[in-house]
Amino acid sequence: MGRYTDSVCRQCRREGEKLFLKGDRCYSVKCAVEKRPFVPGQHGQKRRQKTSEYGLQLREKQKTKRIYGVSEKQFRNTFEKADRQQGVTGDNLLALLERRLDNVVFRMGMASSRKEARQLVNHDHFTINGKKANIPSMLVKAGDVIQVKEASAESPKFEELKAAAAYKTAPEWLEVNADSLTGRVLSLPTRDQIDTAVSEHLIVELYSR
Ligand code: SF4
Repeated sequence: MGRYTDSVCRQCRREGEKLFLKGDRCYSVKCAVEKRPFVPGQHGQKRRQKTSEYGLQLREKQKTKRIYGVSEKQFRNTFEKADRQQGVTGDNLLALLERRLDNVVFRMGMASSRKEARQLVNHDHFTINGKKANIPSMLVKAGDVIQVKEASAESPKFEELKAAAAYKTAPEWLEVNADSLTGRVLSLPTRDQIDTAVSEHLIVELYSR
């Protein structure tokens, strides 16, 4: 699948709920879900038809993929990895998505959206345990230290993010020091520590068909 280039707000409208893909705008009155609460397209305002079980499962998968900003192929590969791990596949799937470096940067409060986080990682602003880390799909492990590079930390962009990060609450599995632009993975995330509002069992059912 190619990179998604259409307005990301259409993705939220398609799912009928806020997926928080645009940072601060998502919390403002400019949010497209607030302004146009119907699916995009010519027939968007018609009454929605009853969705089949398969349709529900498919929508949940699409929604999850969109929240984390991963391609179909990456998502499928992540699912297969989750399925091979011990434990509950749905929980494993979400934990693997959470452990992606772009998501961790977002959770640290160092970006206003996962999309921005991915861009910052791609532009080589971070290290993991002091080593270069510029691949958004890299998975963090317990004990890893994620830090903004010294040269980047002094840029106005990170000064701004530092101020914003100080007011954000990191999840329990991450310890963030906004002053030093550092995060430490205290433990791998468990399902109850992940606030992503998805029903992962529907995705497991979809792939088990
Ligand atoms: Fe979704 Fe945010 Fe756009 Fe609202 S502003 S539709 S939550 S991406």
